[in-house]
Amino acid sequence: MVNQENMKIIIAGAGIGGLTAALCLYEAGHEVEIFESVKSIKPLGVGINLLPHSVRILTNLDIDDEIAKTAVETRDLVYANKFGQVFWKEPRGRFAGYKWPQFSVHRGELQMLLYDEVLQRLGSDAIKTQHHLLSYVEYEDGIIANFIDRETGDLQAQVEGDILIGADGINSVVRQHLYPQEGEVKYSGNVLYRGTTLMKPFLNGASMVMIGHLRQKMVVYPIQHELNAQGLQLVNWVANLKEADDYQLKVRDWNRQADKQRLLDIYQSWNFDWLDVPAMIAGAENIYEFPMSDRDPLPRWTFRRVTLLGDAAHPMYPIGSNGASQAILDADALTRALIEEPDWQSALERYDAERVPATAQVVLQNRQKGPDFIMDLMEERFPQGFAPDQIPHDELEGIMEHYKQIAGFDVKSLNEKI
Ligand SMILES: Cc1cc2nc3c(=O)[nH]c(=O)nc-3n(C[C@H](O)[C@H](O)[C@H](O)COP(=O)(O)OP(=O)(O)OC[C@H]3O[C@@H](n4cnc5c(N)ncnc54)[C@H](O)[C@@H]3O)c2cc1C
Repeated sequence: MVNQENMKIIIAGAGIGGLTAALCLYEAGHEVEIFESVKSIKPLGVGINLLPHSVRILTNLDIDDEIAKTAVETRDLVYANKFGQVFWKEPRGRFAGYKWPQFSVHRGELQMLLYDEVLQRLGSDAIKTQHHLLSYVEYEDGIIANFIDRETGDLQAQVEGDILIGADGINSVVRQHLYPQEGEVKYSGNVLYRGTTLMKPFLNGASMVMIGHLRQKMVVYPIQHELNAQGLQLVNWVANLKEADDYQLKVRDWNRQADKQRLLDIYQSWNFDWLDVPAMIAGAENIYEFPMSDRDPLPRWTFRRVTLLGDAAHPMYPIGSNGASQAILDADALTRALIEEPDWQSALERYDAERVPATAQVVLQNRQKGPDFIMDLMEERFPQGFAPDQIPHDELEGIMEHYKQIAGFDVKSLNEKI
């Protein structure tokens, strides 16, 4: 086995995927440079979840303690119908017997934490912002990537390396080069309305709840464990609505503001004894709308010296909390392949063989509603609510366990890893 250290690896995109890949590859002995389109990285976004399989990788990078300082260690996942009746509850992370926790965290805070960690370990010039990948050219012994200032169009740098990783998100330039005929993202017909609200902790202060059904759903979970001086906690929520066919929102812009009053009208009756949804919506500072969309799985990501990672490779519906986690799994798989394979060609081929089918299954499962399938099942069978003895526990359990196996985080096989 040959350990191929000292490859020069170019990463396009300093999102959670690109930054984690940089840390993993650097720790494996490679020279890594990251290039990011935006002028300065700001803590954008709202909440995301890190499942135990990705926290394992962040723990091996020794950054789990930093994340734990801000994140909430999720205790349980709760499903309820539109009347607030709970029909499924399961422990999560270490509370479910995993060796690693599940974290609910602010996406922007996690990105900044990874960003600082990269600068500390790789050096202050390891990340070049205002460098938008425009194109690349491969030659016999390497690859040259061309970066521009996206605002002015001026050429910023031509960088030579051994491998180029496209971690440049759902509108990936690298993916466009590899699949020029692919076209636009696929819109699901659902729109996500995302907000954060400072409010009194609900349930045990570390629960993630899914309420309703897939035409009108609400996901709620806290993302900071510290309470403020008034005893309030920062809570993330996502309203998921099936919109009319002529609904025109197609632009995938993470920072587009939504109409609060419309949401308040739609959710006005969702005031339960354990959570007041209308008050939570009313208390949000900003609400962002985002068309739920993905892309079809690709047959391959690797073409000689170029490969894809994270949302560039497998954008998926945010169902089952897997978007960021799967990007982190990619980073780990690619690094391990480069450590264990005799040459970079077989390493990239192995990365492809391992991750392309695995993530394709998650993308397709999420189109089939993933674990949230149980919400529609309960709505269809009990549209007016249910009596406790009517809950089909075994059936729900089968659906939940199946998803964990597909997404690679069933407790038994994960705990066998180190
Ligand atoms: C601003 C923003 C806010 C988000 N908010 C949420 C959220 O609230 N909830 C949620 O579930 N998910 C959110 N996401 C998506 C989530 O971060 C990803 O699904 C997941 O973390 C996988 O990350 P990624 O690194 O593969 O992609 P991304 O997080 O999309 O990162 C891609 C990075 O590449 C950069 N980039 C794009 N094109 C180029 C190029 N040509 N050259 C160089 N750099 C390029 C982008 O600026 C970005 O920093 C957000 C993404 C972004 C970019």
